[in-house]
Amino acid sequence: MNDFLPYAFFRGQLVPFPEAQLSIATHALHYGTGAFGGLRGIPDPENPDRVLLFRLDRHCQRLSQSAKFLHFELSAEEIFKAIEAFVQKNQPSQSFYIRPFVYTSDLGIAPRLHNIEKDFFIYGLQLGDYLSPEGVSCRISSWYRQEDRSLPLRGKISGAYIASSLAKTEAVASGFDEAILMNSQGKVCEATGMNLFMVRNGRLITPGYDQDILEGITRDSVIRVAQDLGIPVDQRPIDKSELFIADEVFLSGTAAKVTPVKQVENYLTPCDRPITDQIRQQLTLITEGRLAAYQDWVFPIALR
Ligand code: PMP
Repeated sequence: MNDFLPYAFFRGQLVPFPEAQLSIATHALHYGTGAFGGLRGIPDPENPDRVLLFRLDRHCQRLSQSAKFLHFELSAEEIFKAIEAFVQKNQPSQSFYIRPFVYTSDLGIAPRLHNIEKDFFIYGLQLGDYLSPEGVSCRISSWYRQEDRSLPLRGKISGAYIASSLAKTEAVASGFDEAILMNSQGKVCEATGMNLFMVRNGRLITPGYDQDILEGITRDSVIRVAQDLGIPVDQRPIDKSELFIADEVFLSGTAAKVTPVKQVENYLTPCDRPITDQIRQQLTLITEGRLAAYQDWVFPIALR
């Protein structure tokens, strides 16, 4: 059972989580016409009276852009303010995850985005490790990532997660922890809720924005941290066979952080992961607000 934070932001108010209830006729539930964000916060290790949210500005901006795809005008500032009030009300004392959600909130049928009410809610949960920090095994999914010409993949559109769900269950049913999906070009592009990286000959390589990936905020952070550490970064298509012989493979995401991949299909990845470890350690320090050079990625929210 999930450990939900006690209050939700619902219909413009902060209410006890169990009171935030929707009708079974809610439009978005039927057509996948919602979009969401996902961000992490931690108690500030240096100050018990505040929490630190990682890249809150970018998360608000991405959700505002996702809302735009749903024909819903919701500014990043409005989302930012609602998240701030939500966190202050909940007073989280452990590592937590925030899920803001925009959606077609009307009751009734007929898929569309015009002439229909939209709304916005936020809830949260305590969240430790989403995937094992020791590493995961990945199957290459038989399900393919959708294409941007079919739906806007730069938004976290809820309907798109059917592919992730099919892929994850297929992977788990065949004994793997996670799935890596290929795009319609047959290049590996991302996992079910994580971006994909590999290391070959000292270079960090990840699929570019033309590969039908989500514009992951952790991905962006990993690239910047790697560059700052002097690690060369390439953004280019990746064949699945390259993953089988990579020196290191890892997944990046808000929930998963940096998770090493120890196996892809039945090919084992080397246990030594110097670049993954270096980037992971650096990101941990950054999210804890301990690296001055990245202070602008960390948003403190005072609880008292
Ligand atoms: N790809 C998909 C499909 C995702 O759902 C996520 C999680 N938001 C990511 C990548 C990673 O994005 P981020 O680092 O912004 O969490």
